[in-house]
Amino acid sequence: MARKNNPIIGCLLLILLAVGAGIQLFKYNPVAGIAGVVGIVFLGGLVLYATRRKPCEMCGNFLERKKFFWNIDGEKKRVCSHCNQTFMRRQSRAATRNIR
Ligand SMILES: [Zn+2]
Repeated sequence: MARKNNPIIGCLLLILLAVGAGIQLFKYNPVAGIAGVVGIVFLGGLVLYATRRKPCEMCGNFLERKKFFWNIDGEKKRVCSHCNQTFMRRQSRAATRNIR
């Protein structure tokens, strides 16, 4: 199964394009060429930073599109859907125990 969009490859392409355009621009106007490349690479880095994948804090798996937050021992934890299900089950089990 192919991944629909890989932000890292998109960013690399963007950076390659930026470098290519920068080299062309550099021939005519070195300062603008360098400024353009630095700006685009900086933007690419920002996009990469914003779209980077975070690991689940319980099992360490990389989070897919869905992520869940749970308060565990007073600490907010970011967990994957799998761990979320585990916590839901645990919570409902604890709830039914309290009722009985
Ligand atoms: Zn997990």
